[in-house]
Amino acid sequence: MTCRHLTGLDPIAARTAGCEECLQIGSTWVHLRLCLSCGHVGCCDSSPHRHATGHFHQTSHPVIASFEPGERWAWCYVDDAELPVPARFEPHLNA
Ligand SMILES: [Zn+2]
Ligand SMILES: [Zn+2]
Ligand SMILES: [Zn+2]
Repeated sequence: MTCRHLTGLDPIAARTAGCEECLQIGSTWVHLRLCLSCGHVGCCDSSPHRHATGHFHQTSHPVIASFEPGERWAWCYVDDAELPVPARFEPHLNA
């Protein structure tokens, strides 16, 4: 199966440097994930609040990428599959 959810998505800069919801409530996170649809930054499923997955359930934005320095992978919630990060998103990820 091939993920088609990245087709037509324009790269967008991260809206925050940390998890958007955790920053608002003063919480902490383990790892960060970037929503490739809207630039939302959320925390991973190892974090207490799992805001990246929560963002998917709220918005149906299908694909996140790791926002950790040096990590390059994406995940499609709809296809339940790991994906390579298209080169056009590279400028918005953490080096
Ligand atoms: Zn997909
Ligand atoms: Zn969070
Ligand atoms: Zn989003």
